[in-house]
Amino acid sequence: MAGDKQIAVVGAGISGLLACKHLMEKGFRPVVFESRSCVGGVWAFQTVESTKLQTPKTYYQFSDFAWPPSVTAAFPDHNQVWQYIYSYSVYFNLIPAIKFNHKVVAIDYSLPLDDEKICGWDEWGGNGGPFSVEGKWKMLVQHTVYPLEAPKVFEVDFVILCNGNYSDFPNVPQFPIDKGPKVFDGVAIHSMDYATMTTIDAAEFIKGKRVTVVGFQKSAIDIAVETVHWTVPEHLNELSFRNLNRFSELMIHKPREGFFLWLLAILLYPLVTSSSFRQFFELIKHNMIPKHGFITQLASCMLPVLPPNFYERVEEGSIVLKNSQSFHFSRNGIVLDDDPLPIETDIVIFATGFRPDEKIAKIFKSTFFQGCIFGSSTPFYRECIHPRIPQVAILGYSESPANLFATEMRSKWLAHFMAGNMKLPTISAMEEDTIKWEMCMRQYAFKSYKRACIGLLLQIHSNDLLCNDMGCNPRRKSWFLPELFAPYVPPDYANL
Ligand SMILES: Cc1cc2nc3c(=O)[nH]c(=O)nc-3n(C[C@H](O)[C@H](O)[C@H](O)COP(=O)(O)OP(=O)(O)OC[C@H]3O[C@@H](n4cnc5c(N)ncnc54)[C@H](O)[C@@H]3O)c2cc1C
Repeated sequence: MAGDKQIAVVGAGISGLLACKHLMEKGFRPVVFESRSCVGGVWAFQTVESTKLQTPKTYYQFSDFAWPPSVTAAFPDHNQVWQYIYSYSVYFNLIPAIKFNHKVVAIDYSLPLDDEKICGWDEWGGNGGPFSVEGKWKMLVQHTVYPLEAPKVFEVDFVILCNGNYSDFPNVPQFPIDKGPKVFDGVAIHSMDYATMTTIDAAEFIKGKRVTVVGFQKSAIDIAVETVHWTVPEHLNELSFRNLNRFSELMIHKPREGFFLWLLAILLYPLVTSSSFRQFFELIKHNMIPKHGFITQLASCMLPVLPPNFYERVEEGSIVLKNSQSFHFSRNGIVLDDDPLPIETDIVIFATGFRPDEKIAKIFKSTFFQGCIFGSSTPFYRECIHPRIPQVAILGYSESPANLFATEMRSKWLAHFMAGNMKLPTISAMEEDTIKWEMCMRQYAFKSYKRACIGLLLQIHSNDLLCNDMGCNPRRKSWFLPELFAPYVPPDYANL
C-alpha cells in the first residue's frame, strides 16, 4: 500500500533528507526534487568561511547516526557539518531518491475544489488521513541546468515542502526613494549573495574596502558585525543547552497545563529573566544592550553565538559596533538615525534575513492556499501541518535552536501519520490547538513572536506531544532524577 503512493519531497537539505529517510523506512518510495547539484542545503551553499555550527553538535545530530570521532570540536565548522550530512545521505542510501538540478516551480491541487468546499471540510483533506481518493498535487518542475527545456509535470499523492528558510527571498529594508541604496556610490548587497561567493571571490570583494554589515543574527556576526541583540559566547551557549531539561521547561507555562503548573512557572520564571544574565555579557561594555529581554529573544529563536575572538577584534578596532534602530544611505556611506555623523563605507551587506512565508506561499498556484500561509500568524499544527492545506506537510519551516533535532522529530511523526498509524484531529480541533500555541508563544516572545519558532524551552514539551501522538512513551530516561534534570538529546528518540 505504502509503495503505491507517490510522495514528493521538495529540497534535499537536512529536512528533505530526514523526510526521505523516515518515509523509506515505512516502505514508501519518495522522490526528492533538489534545485541544486548536491545535498545539504544551506550547509552546501549559504555559509561564509568563518561559519560554524552554533548549536553544540550533541544537539545537532541525527538520532541514529553519530558524528564521526574525527570531529572533536563542540561546534564543528561548516565543512564538517556538510560532510556529516552528506555521509548520512550515503549511509542511508538516500542519494538514488534525489533528482538533482530539479527546481519545483509551482504546485497545484488537481481536484477542482472551490474555496467554499475546502472551508466546509471537518476533517483534513476531507478524511483526516494523509491521502485522498481523488485529490492529487500537480508539480511543475524545471531543470536548472537546462532552463530552456519545457518544465515537466509530475502528479503525486502528497507533497512535503522542505525548501528552507534561508534562500531565494531576501529580506531587504525599504527606504524613501532619495535615501536608499541608489544614492550610494558604493555597493549594497544581501548576505545571501556574499555567502554564495567562493572564498577567493569573497576575499577579493572586500579586500581593502570599508564594510558595513547591517543585521543582528548569525550571518551578520559571521560576516563582520553590527549587532543589537543578545549574543552569547560559545561556552555559555553550551551551558544553556545542557540545561535543556524538564526542570527548565517548568519555567514556561504551556497550553493546556493546569493551575499548579501555571503557579510553578510563575515562581520559577525569574530564574531565567534577562537581569540574571546581564552581568555575563560584554554587551553592556559596548553599549549594545537590546531593548527586549533575554527570554523574549530566546523565545523567538534569535540568539547568535559569538566566535571566540569576537570581542578582541572589537577591542583592537577592526570591528566597530553601532546600535541603531534604523538608518539610511548617503552618497558615501550610511547615516544612523541617532548619530549625526555618517559612517563612510564602500560596501554595505544586508544580513537582514529572509522572507520564509513568501517562499512557502508562492510555491502554491492557488491564491486560496497562498492566503492560508499569508492570512494568519498562527503556527502550523505540530509545526508541520496547515489545517486547511490538504496532503501537504512543511518541514524545516519551524525552527528551534537545534533545527536538526526539531525537524527529525517531526519527520518521524509525519512518517507515522503517512503510514496510517494515526489520524489527525478535526480541522477545528487543530485550529484551536494552534491558536493556544500562538497565545503561549506570544506571552514569552511579545513583539518578537515568530510562528516559525519552537523556543528553546519548549523543545521537550513539543516532543512529548509528538511521542503521545505516535503512541510511544515520551519519558525517555531510565529513572526520575535524569528525567527531570538531564538534558534531552536526539539519541533519546532513536528508533521511534
Ligand atoms: C549560516 C547559517 C548557520 C546556521 N547555523 C545553525 C545552527 O548552528 N543550528 C541550527 O539549528 N540551525 C542553523 N541554521 C539553520 C539551518 O537553516 C538549519 O539548521 C537547516 O540546515 C535547514 O535545513 P533545511 O533542509 O530545512 O533547509 P535548507 O538547508 O535551506 O535546504 C533547502 C533545500 O531545498 C532546496 N530548494 C529550495 N527551493 C526549492 C525548490 N523550489 N525546488 C527544489 N529544491 C528547492 C534548496 O536548494 C536546498 O537545498 C543555520 C543557517 C544558516 C544560513
